[in-house]
Amino acid sequence: MCNLSRAFLVVTMSSSIWQIDHKKMDYRQIPAIFVADAPGLDFLNSIATPVDEEVDWIGDGEGLLSWLEQAGMVPPAALAALRAQSTPAELDAVAQQARALREWFRGFVRTRKGRPLAAVDVGELAPLNELLARDDRYEEIVADVTAGVSRFELRAQRRWKSAESLLLPIAEALARLVCDEDFTQVKACEGPRCTLLFADHTRGHARRWCSMAICGNRAKVAAHRKRLKEQEAH
Ligand SMILES: [Zn+2]
Repeated sequence: MCNLSRAFLVVTMSSSIWQIDHKKMDYRQIPAIFVADAPGLDFLNSIATPVDEEVDWIGDGEGLLSWLEQAGMVPPAALAALRAQSTPAELDAVAQQARALREWFRGFVRTRKGRPLAAVDVGELAPLNELLARDDRYEEIVADVTAGVSRFELRAQRRWKSAESLLLPIAEALARLVCDEDFTQVKACEGPRCTLLFADHTRGHARRWCSMAICGNRAKVAAHRKRLKEQEAH
């Protein structure tokens, strides 16, 4: 059994226990969070606690389709075709695989963020390489006409054969993260209860928060309260 299948089992078991104890907030009430500046990390952030309750945007098949649409990872026509040709149970099963992939990859990122990746780390990525090997990509020549000038362009396409092919753009995003990002600048938000990850692309590498709107303001308010208390104490 590969690492991913093992991770898959663990996640399946733990999430079923979780569902008995808690009722998760509905992902449909709130748009997904895209603040990571790297699609692979946005995928890890598809479960988060934006206010008080945890939201899992890929908690079921419909959620996965909606998240992929919001992420712009799958063309709307392909999403519509897969929704029409798959049963809800098939889509739920793929969402479960996506969650297993997410939690396995989260472990890889959390233990390695803040330092450059080393050649030895590639060994841990075998499950991701297995997934990439299933990809069915091809290129197509398309004509692009801008301001009356036509230009031919070679554009990457993907065959969307089954619901499982929804995992492939995700695998591509994760692979791009490890190949294109400097892991030294992969950071976790400093918000005390925040789980969001991001790639710090700021010039001085001084980014500390997932977003000012979520955790930056919370930290500002907390610091302000602390100062007021200190002033009162004097
Ligand atoms: Zn945060």
